[in-house]
Amino acid sequence: MIVRCWLLILLSFALFAAAAPAAFIRGHAYVAVADWAAANGFHPLARSRGAFTWTNRSSRLTLEKDSHTAQINGVNVALAFPVALEKGTPFVAQLDLAKTIEPLMFTPRFAGKRIFTIVLDPGHGGKDAGNHVGYHAEKDYTLALAGALRAQLTNAGFNVLLTRSGDKYVELDARPDLANRRGADLFVSLHFNATEAGKSEVNGPETYCITPVGAASSNAQGEGANHGACLANRVENKSLLLAYLVQKSLVRTLGGPDRSVRRARFAVLRDATMPAILVESGYMTHPSEGRRIFDAGYRRLIASAIAHGIINYQQLTAVPMTSKPKPAASRSAARAKSGK
Ligand SMILES: [Zn+2]
Repeated sequence: MIVRCWLLILLSFALFAAAAPAAFIRGHAYVAVADWAAANGFHPLARSRGAFTWTNRSSRLTLEKDSHTAQINGVNVALAFPVALEKGTPFVAQLDLAKTIEPLMFTPRFAGKRIFTIVLDPGHGGKDAGNHVGYHAEKDYTLALAGALRAQLTNAGFNVLLTRSGDKYVELDARPDLANRRGADLFVSLHFNATEAGKSEVNGPETYCITPVGAASSNAQGEGANHGACLANRVENKSLLLAYLVQKSLVRTLGGPDRSVRRARFAVLRDATMPAILVESGYMTHPSEGRRIFDAGYRRLIASAIAHGIINYQQLTAVPMTSKPKPAASRSAARAKSGK
């Protein structure tokens, strides 16, 4: 009996040591990043200009006080809650650790599935022109980009479907619906951005994926945190990884500022049952980025960046067919169990 008690005490100490201390900050559960990092084999680097960095042999996490963005292996990723500093120690929201940081820092092991069909969704169309800059309408450039991307993905061996192939109005919910009905493996919605304020300052790509339950979307100023789960939340970690790899490829290929992986409950993302992202490949309103977007050569470069991100995603998530075969006994047992 005494031995059992001691075992329990030792076990609870071990569990306590592995768990990072939590705190409630502005009503949300937060974790001391230093404790989380130590428990997961990361060590801190010297603090530089208000930024805290932890690293191990393969990964690096950088956080800044009050920032809604984490830098994960060099790519900006939006957080639901700002990084807090308590007595000089950075804290990050538990939800951000679980839903954003950990899924991207610890290479996920998804059940391998070959990507065959990709649905591309050229944003807007018909009576919905999207953003306008002078005589340039967003709907024309999303369609042109979709054509360039379709050519590259088809060359790479994918089966590519478009939600519209002409200047046609398509309801928002019909777009992921097509992907669901056709059994698509990925859904990629294509857009170009615009801003009213700071037209000559705001440029660079943004890539969106579904907002996790319990969080507000990145551009929602804290609204909508009580939104329930969408169909898309079932595969949210896969969508996050796809968004991350596409954003990384866009920033590396196009240069310019990294406006981060972001979260949104856009109608075209909510009901997709496969990994789904929405790519804003740049700002039409920016004097030089806008000019480039209107150029076919630059759009081919954007297309190659998105295609590269998709191929990287496929390589990270596909399980090679050469995986070790199961012993014969368990194979026949599995056959008997499944009735095949
Ligand atoms: Zn748009």
